[in-house]
Amino acid sequence: MTTLFDDAPPDCSQCGSPGARAIIYGDPSEEMIVAARLGDIVLGGVPREGHTPQWLCACGARY
Ligand SMILES: [Zn+2]
Repeated sequence: MTTLFDDAPPDCSQCGSPGARAIIYGDPSEEMIVAARLGDIVLGGVPREGHTPQWLCACGARY
């Protein structure tokens, strides 16, 4: 698991499974790009106002 982030994801709001990946917005650092390649995090790109979910579940739900 990643050591970049201390926050543990809450259970998925759709399917209830734990272990969702953190969605990171804005310009990613090299570390974050590597982490995204490894599947530890998801790069969200430029955040859209009013729509910035924090977590992406394996089921596809963002919350
Ligand atoms: Zn889910």
